[in-house]
Amino acid sequence: MSASRKARTARAYAVNEIFFSLQGEGARAGTPNVFVRFSGCNMRCDIQPGKSSPGGFACDTEFESGRPMTAAQIVVSALKLAPRGGVGVIFTGGEPALQLDKPLVDSMRKAGFGPLCIETNGTIDVAPLGLDWISLSPKVAEHAVRVSTCSEIRYVRGYGQGIPRPRAKAARKFISPAFSGDSLDPDTLRWCVDLVKANPEWALSVQQHKTWGIR
Ligand code: SF4
Repeated sequence: MSASRKARTARAYAVNEIFFSLQGEGARAGTPNVFVRFSGCNMRCDIQPGKSSPGGFACDTEFESGRPMTAAQIVVSALKLAPRGGVGVIFTGGEPALQLDKPLVDSMRKAGFGPLCIETNGTIDVAPLGLDWISLSPKVAEHAVRVSTCSEIRYVRGYGQGIPRPRAKAARKFISPAFSGDSLDPDTLRWCVDLVKANPEWALSVQQHKTWGIR
């Protein structure tokens, strides 16, 4: 097969955007990472609970738009942003596990990136991908979570929502107060602070990138 035919037949991923920034949440907050944000999600989180929504907060992520990119094109884009590699990659979305596969993970690793991380809603088992760091943020009932072990678990909590009872094993556990766009309601923050004080195995994780004014 000619090289051009190979390129035409290579798998294309629907990618919303690729950018270089600092992780703003969880145990890796403050570290530089290339974010590969995939299009599409299998949930529709909103204030009201429903079949595809846990309730309590509304999704503020635009994940409908995107463009097709091969693994090679994603690697080239990441290397343009971080030419020396050596920084983390965060596969995010939408729900990245709908598209992420081992060939793309392996391509990024071969290009010198790491740790390779995912932010997932837990509806798909990501263990076979061989990632270095799994951030699980469940958006479904616990019996429907397909990720059994993760590096950290983060639950978004709106005002009045209780402490979660996760089934997944997590090295670190975080409560993340729900933002409305870029603003954080002080009552929601106080509610989450009190949740953590009453449940000290949990820690607070605020979406710091929003207060830092970066992506
Ligand atoms: S799982 Fe995440 S990306 Fe998908 S709708 Fe919910 S908050 Fe938005």
